[in-house]
Amino acid sequence: MGYKRISIKIPVGYDEDRLRKKIRWFVNVDDFSYTIESKSLDARNKNNIHWEMRLLISSDSFKQDLPELKPELDIPFRKRDEKVVVVGSGPAGFFAAFVLQKAGFKVTLIERGTDVTTRTKDIKTFESTGIFIANSNYAFGEGGAGTFSDGKLTSRSKKISVEKKFILESYVSAGAPDEIKYMTHPHVGSDNLKIIVKNLRAQFENLGGTYLFETTMTDIKVVTGKVTKITTNNGDIVANYFLIAPGHSSYDTYRMLMKKGINFHAKNFALGSRMEHQQEIINLAQWGKKSLPGVKAAEYRLTSKGINQEQVYSFCMCPGGIIVPAAATADTNIVNGMSDYMRDNEFANAACVATVNIGTILNREVSAMETLDWMENLENSFFNFSKGYKAPFCSIKDFIAKKITKSSMNTSYPLGIIETPLWELLPKSVEASMRAGLKDFIRKMKGFETGNIMGLESKSSAPIQVDREKDGLCTGFENLYVIGEGSGFAGGIISSAADGVKSALSIISS
Ligand SMILES: Cc1cc2nc3c(=O)[nH]c(=O)nc-3n(C[C@H](O)[C@H](O)[C@H](O)COP(=O)(O)OP(=O)(O)OC[C@H]3O[C@@H](n4cnc5c(N)ncnc54)[C@H](O)[C@@H]3O)c2cc1C
Repeated sequence: MGYKRISIKIPVGYDEDRLRKKIRWFVNVDDFSYTIESKSLDARNKNNIHWEMRLLISSDSFKQDLPELKPELDIPFRKRDEKVVVVGSGPAGFFAAFVLQKAGFKVTLIERGTDVTTRTKDIKTFESTGIFIANSNYAFGEGGAGTFSDGKLTSRSKKISVEKKFILESYVSAGAPDEIKYMTHPHVGSDNLKIIVKNLRAQFENLGGTYLFETTMTDIKVVTGKVTKITTNNGDIVANYFLIAPGHSSYDTYRMLMKKGINFHAKNFALGSRMEHQQEIINLAQWGKKSLPGVKAAEYRLTSKGINQEQVYSFCMCPGGIIVPAAATADTNIVNGMSDYMRDNEFANAACVATVNIGTILNREVSAMETLDWMENLENSFFNFSKGYKAPFCSIKDFIAKKITKSSMNTSYPLGIIETPLWELLPKSVEASMRAGLKDFIRKMKGFETGNIMGLESKSSAPIQVDREKDGLCTGFENLYVIGEGSGFAGGIISSAADGVKSALSIISS
């Protein structure tokens, strides 16, 4: 058997027959099999939108050896007595726990929220009644914020390719479509993620890992730079290593850790609101057509200059998705976006956020604790304004003109929207930058002015960062790791999961 790598362009809507014909034409043999190594949509020329694919072809007619493949993650197993506690079952916590359990450690993974089946019911209840359920919502529960997410599995970091391969293969082993291994913009969808996190839990438990739901870490015991145990609502847990992966919505956990001497500092982050359009408008703008065969829904990524050098950009774009009430606590009101695998909802949404330096906004040096208070106040202020979870909204045109929107609008947001001078609820520099950015987005994308903008988007990145060494070990501690999005060193599913894998590998090799 020999191998050949080829790159091809093929029209959208191709079928297996056409692909095989194309390959045959390229390699000039009839008997072959192929593996897709990468696949991306090229829509730069609307008259020639096509897929670009890199394929590895194998055939007895070829002479060449198998070309070098991406390296695999090496997880050395041996029987070990050391115990590990991982706090938080989001991508960072789960993958740290999974790798350590594979390496032979005795791992207990604790999660403040409920299992994914209960969580799904609780989210449905919240969306149909407006009754918020603590610890079982978009932020907390099995799989973390990553479960009821859009499920985009992209990451811009080039330093995590081995970890990323392991994470994507683990998702596929748990039920994700195979295509996530090769798509340039892989997307798994919230419907698949609910199944995946459950199957991954079963794999972890089959390896001997312990998974505890509705178990919240409330305290840690530190003795001269070493954590000896954590306290939870279900009792104390003693271990040799402690990995905390709380995400960036768990403000009570952050505050507890700071009081226990773990140092955090304020960092730049981004704030804004969520924009929504009819998906058809985005398809027309990006493709020049309402639909394309074999392609789910068009995406966009827009960037612009705000004011005072701040960047304004679209973030976490969810084609064919819905806007969701993503509060982590009862008295806050924030929004986010998600979609299912088919991306077939009539709306497209994305955050419009501006970069924030809290020190510049408050015109002084700001501690991590003050940053959290400031953020929580802002999230509370949206709740107080709406007296609940309705999303304050206006049209994009009215946001720019500072005019209250008079007409009612269709939206995917399940808990209702209220006409609001949204700009008045946002920090001055943020709303001014957003206005400049939105004007630019309208110039850049046809039909963009037809959209609406709503709610507070405060979760695009953590506002604080822990002081830690390489791979997660907290500065001044021997056995405490703060990892994932909550550490301020990662953001998004893949980068948070990779942070978890890296911290696990560093423990394995220590
Ligand atoms: C609606 C939505 C859509 C998103 N879409 C995407 C997307 O398409 N692509 C993408 O890359 N990213 C997306 N994100 C962001 C992504 O989900 C996060 O970046 C990622 O989940 C962070 O992983 P993490 O493990 O660090 O933290 P989290 O996923 O936040 O997990 C932290 C977990 O820790 C638990 N926890 C916290 N404190 C405690 C405690 N004291 N005791 C016990 N347990 C605790 C929480 O309950 C939670 O389950 C989305 C986020 C949201 C909310």
